[in-house]
Amino acid sequence: MRKISVFGATGSIGENTFDLLMRQGGAEAVHMVAVTGGRNSRRLADMARALRAEVAVCADEGCLADLKDALAGSGIETAAGAQAMRDAADRPVDWAMSAIVGAAGLQPGMQVLRQGATLALANKESLVTAGQLMLATAEAKGARILPVDSEHSAIFQALTGEDISAVERIILTASGGALRDWPTERLAQAKLADALAHPNWSMGARITIDSASMFNKAMEVIETREFFGVEPDQIEVIIHPESLIHSMVGFHDGAIMAHLGAADMRHAIGFALNWPVRQPLPVARLDLAAVGALTFRAPDMGRFPALRLAREVMAQRGLAGAVFNAAKEIALDKFIAGQIGFMDMAGLVETTLARLSGETSLGKAAASLDDVLAMDQLARIRASEAKV
Ligand code: NDP
Repeated sequence: MRKISVFGATGSIGENTFDLLMRQGGAEAVHMVAVTGGRNSRRLADMARALRAEVAVCADEGCLADLKDALAGSGIETAAGAQAMRDAADRPVDWAMSAIVGAAGLQPGMQVLRQGATLALANKESLVTAGQLMLATAEAKGARILPVDSEHSAIFQALTGEDISAVERIILTASGGALRDWPTERLAQAKLADALAHPNWSMGARITIDSASMFNKAMEVIETREFFGVEPDQIEVIIHPESLIHSMVGFHDGAIMAHLGAADMRHAIGFALNWPVRQPLPVARLDLAAVGALTFRAPDMGRFPALRLAREVMAQRGLAGAVFNAAKEIALDKFIAGQIGFMDMAGLVETTLARLSGETSLGKAAASLDDVLAMDQLARIRASEAKV
């Protein structure tokens, strides 16, 4: 039986992964090794019981008593805290889902790669902050990374059977987010509730705001560069309000392969879970006649400074991605707290990148995860101090 762990089981991606695992036979079909959560011990315990996991781990030590209580008599081990998370990620697996949000997702992902196992990667921060390190580790250990973000899964699928050297360009589609139809001059006035009203996808609050600001797409551009090894100028972004084409690959002969499907993360998760086999998945089937038309428009770089910043990060490479991500997190916190405006988020990231470019050798590749995490911490301090 395949040995599986899910890191970030209690989140949106984790719930969808759990749903698919249960539909595909649950504990009868897989050997569940570890399920981890942050604080939601009750939900984590339910999942651990349903999948008969070896161990359930909460990142927050304050949740351990509750977790123990919820799993009493089940025979499932319980643990909490940073060391317990590391121990869980060292348990041998064949496949693991990396769905912790934020920089906390880096460590378990790297541990899975060091095992030479398959990592289904949802955690965006991994490739943005430590892409070169993760890919080098995967290569050295014979591990595989399968993308879970819908855009990268689409690109991966469009590349099946193709030679990457025949790729001319990769076209990432973007919904344009909640504010896509607002006039540019009004964007500075956008409030939290405005940025949260995503037209197509139902996701967590932070990623929904990142979608409106295009920071989410900027992260995906950087991930694309790292994961598929293409040059920055081969990556394009196009606004596609219907979100039915999840991304496209253009080849040297002029052909474009597009991946279409319903806006349901269970497609990309299920593809990674079952790869290289395609299993039936419980996602809605597209009725293209009902859809009628698919529309596209070029992104206005003036509206979306995050896309320009992504180009600067790719030009610097090294630890610039760690700064970009950390500063973006702080900017997002400040926007959510009402301390800065919507358009100030990009200004804060740009200021932080400029400051740390002066203070450190940002372009130098990270030698270890510790380098990445140290830069993450420093960038958070600088971004918190920054004035916009
Ligand atoms: P959620 O916020 O819904 O879930 C995050 C998960 O991480 C939860 O299990 C949470 O636990 C856990 N967690 C939070 N903080 C920590 C921590 N410090 N240490 C360990 N675990 C922690 O996020 P999503 O599922 O939406 O996203 C997960 C990742 O996937 C992100 O990187 C996101 O960008 C990426 N992604 C998400 C997509 C989506 O559609 N949602 C699409 C593509 C990528 P708990 O809830 O118990 O506190």
